[in-house]
This record gives sequence, structure tokens and C-alpha cells, in this order.
Amino acid sequence: MSISNKSLKIYNSLSQKKEDFKTINPSKVGIYVCGPTVYNKVHLGNCRTFISFDLIVRFLKHIGYDVRYVRNITDVGHLEESEEEDKILKRAKIEKLEPMEVVQKYTNDFREVLNKFNLLSPNIEPTATGHIIEQIEMIERIIDNGYAYEKNGSVYFDLMNFTKKYKYGKLSNRNLDDIINESRELFGSDEKKNPQDFALWKKASSSHIMKWKSPWGYGFPGWHIECSAMSHKYLGKKFDIHGGGMDLKFPHHDCEIAQFEAVYNQNPANYWVHTNMLTLNGRKMSKSTENFILPENLFSGESDMIEKGYNPMVVKFLMYQAHYRNTLDLSNESLLASEKGYNKLMQSFFDIDILKPSEKGNDKYKLIVDKCYNSMLDDFNSPKLISHLFELSKLIDDIKKEKKFISKKDIDNLRNYMKVFLIDILGFSTHKNIERKVVNKDKLIDALIDIRDFSRKKENYEISDMIRDKLNSLGINIEDK
Ligand code: AMP
Ligand code: ZN
Repeated sequence: MSISNKSLKIYNSLSQKKEDFKTINPSKVGIYVCGPTVYNKVHLGNCRTFISFDLIVRFLKHIGYDVRYVRNITDVGHLEESEEEDKILKRAKIEKLEPMEVVQKYTNDFREVLNKFNLLSPNIEPTATGHIIEQIEMIERIIDNGYAYEKNGSVYFDLMNFTKKYKYGKLSNRNLDDIINESRELFGSDEKKNPQDFALWKKASSSHIMKWKSPWGYGFPGWHIECSAMSHKYLGKKFDIHGGGMDLKFPHHDCEIAQFEAVYNQNPANYWVHTNMLTLNGRKMSKSTENFILPENLFSGESDMIEKGYNPMVVKFLMYQAHYRNTLDLSNESLLASEKGYNKLMQSFFDIDILKPSEKGNDKYKLIVDKCYNSMLDDFNSPKLISHLFELSKLIDDIKKEKKFISKKDIDNLRNYMKVFLIDILGFSTHKNIERKVVNKDKLIDALIDIRDFSRKKENYEISDMIRDKLNSLGINIEDK
């Protein structure tokens, strides 16, 4: 079994009731998630990945782990092999900004969007440019160990040498031959010993703006080395979970494993967790293919593919209705269904406050609560969790209609568990307002005047006078001629 397929069933060994979780010794869990490259606005696909890891972090915290959550910001060096120019530099030229202005602008955008989804901030959010020294040190160690070489001021990872001792491509299950066959005209290929070698450090031309001094001259780091250097700095040689979207398995994460093995002789993570892709019209949501939707447009309703704006919590609910390992397609229909489902669950949560306690107890909820915990213990299965929350919702409805009874103490427990799952673990927030498209004010006033005219025709003067007075109080005077 490849390590990428290992599920997190390890947590099944824990007891399943929250009371029991409380008794486990809190131990440190280290999680590293590859963050965004901040050269443009994040799309909903990116958000899906970060939303999935928020659930994982929240659940591990809830069951008593002391989590250190590290999520980086890639603010330099994200260079595809086929590209000549850094995406951030390209963007800076287009927007006529300093590269660091581009970085700040889109880092701010990223944080604002994740706040709308009510995601927890990571404990550490390191930037690649803030860790150049650590990256250079790691590259030096890879060279010292014989797994990298310098050529014309650039440094490349020596895959031929590496594969004499280690397997390369553990996550993607690719072998070197596949990679050779896949490689077309690769960036810097005339300098590489073998076309599949990847860059650890790139020499910068004199006109290149983002560059740093190194033992090999002025240059900038390759993409993969930043995550190895920063995960090691903040989580050590072995940590629990390393995550990101599925598209990062290769080359990014396979290269990270190789770099780590080249220095520390081991894979850095106990579990590699990859989220599957959010699709739009059945195709991967992605900026480069223009097949994407921005969160702000989904919230405001300004998109041709949706008929109205949706609350960020509804969008998040939709995402949690699919397991993070499965693909999920975004559509107006699925959003409408999620809106109904989300509102129903939240309504049930609020309805607990109006349940009438009786002498008779009812502990049916305890069985369902166990099923909720079991779903999360089974590789963070959020769709299963949600289906069990609907069972709780049905029970609440039955008690409300007095078809079933419950004691005061059990009402309190039920409220507490609904809060645990909806607010603490799924991270829904009860005070996020729906941001709808701004309706034209004049059109709204015309509509009210039409209603008033209609009421007058029907001789319903009570309503027509009320509309006139309300509008007058807003400074809009209506005179009947
Ligand atoms: P990037 O800024 O391109 O490195 O992407 C940031 C994160 O979003 C990475 O973990 C990607 O794997 C993830 N990602 C990109 N596109 C999608 C998508 N359509 N669905 C889910 N995750 C995605
Ligand atoms: Zn990374």
C-alpha cells in the first residue's frame, strides 16, 4: 500500500465518546499544509483544500490533541519547469506594482476570503522569502550528501544518484522512465545531467528583481525546497500530517520527500493527506484554463452560472457534503440543495431552545452522537457526519411536535453536541450575513409605489398610507395627484 493511500484509521483506536477523548493525554500533532502562491486571487478550488484542512485541524483539537498547524505562503520561486518567469514577477509587471506589493495584496485577499469561511488561522504562516537562509542551508546539505550538483550558478537535484539508494515518486507512483518520457523541453535542461533533475536553486539574471546572495551567486530558490526547509524548521524531522491538493502529489510532494530523504534519510510525514479537486462543469477548477469562480462572485451572485448569492457557510456546507478524497462539482443546483440542508440543520440547532422538557428521558441522541464521532474518526468523513446530524435534526423535530419526549438534562446535552459538531468541528458561524447583490434602490422604491397604487385601487388605504408614511420617514415624499 502506498503511503498516500493510508487512511487515518489510527484514530479509531481511541474511544468514541467525547467524554473519553477528554481523558487522553494531549500530545502534539504537527500539520504542514502547502499554502497559496500569492500572485492572484484565490478561487473556490483553492478554498476547498484549505476548508478541508480546517475540518481536520478542528477535529483533532476537539478530541484533545495539541495541534501545531503550519501553512506557508509561497511568495517567490513558484516556477513551473516549462516557464521562464516567476508568476509573481509576471503579475508585478502587468499590475505595475512592486513584487512585494503583489504578494501583500494577494496575501490580504487570501486571508479575507478564508475569514469569510470562518477558518482558523494557522499557528505559523511562514513565507518563502523569510526563509532563504534555511533553504540555502538545506541545499548545501543535499550537495554535501552527493544528491545535488551546481552548474552555472544553479543547483539541481541529482535524481540518478538519488535513485541508486531511494525510490523517487513514492506518492505518484511514477518511475524515472515515466518522468523522462513526460519531460518535454524543460527549463534549464541544457545544464542538467538528466532532464528529470529538478531545480533547488536558480541563477538570477541581472535584470531579475527577486534574488538573493548564495554560495552559488545571486539567485532564487526552487519551489519544492521552501516547504522542506520550513516544515523542518517548525515541525522537525518527522511530523504527523503533510497536506495539500491532489495536484501537488507530483512533482511537489514527491520532490519534497526526495529532498528530505537526501538530508535526513526519512520521509518527513507520517501521513500524506491530499484533497481532491473541486470541479466546475466537470473540469478541474483552475485559473490557467479560465474555468474558475471567485468566492466574492459566489457570495454576491455576480456570476452567470448561479441565480443568486450564497452565504459562505452554505458554500462550505456543500464542500463538506463530499468526502475530501472525492471530487466535487459546483453547480447552482447543488448550492440550492446545500442551502436548504444548511438552513434545516441550523434551524434544528436553534429549535433546541424551544423544546419542552418532560419527566421522561430520551437518550436516542447518544447513539447518533456516537455515529457522528465514528464518522469523523473514519478519515474525517464529513458527508457521513452530516447525514447523522440530519438524524439528530429529525429527532429534534419529533420532540418539538411532542411525538417524542426528552428530559431537561438531555436537552442540554443535545444542545452541547449540536454545538460541538456544527460550530466547533464543522466551523459554521451563526453570525455571518449573506452578501447578496446590491439591489438598485430606485427599482425597490418603484416596486413599493406599485404596491401602494394597487392597494389604493383595491381601497386598502391602511396599507397604502402605511407605505406612504414609511417612505416619507425615509425622506421620500409621495404626493397623490
Ligand atoms: P496554488 O496556489 O496553485 O499552489 O494552490 C493552492 C492550493 O489549492 C494547493 O494545495 C492546490 O492543490 C489547491 N487547489 C488548486 N486547485 C484546486 C481545485 N480545483 N480543487 C481543490 N484544490 C485545489
Ligand atoms: Zn509545498
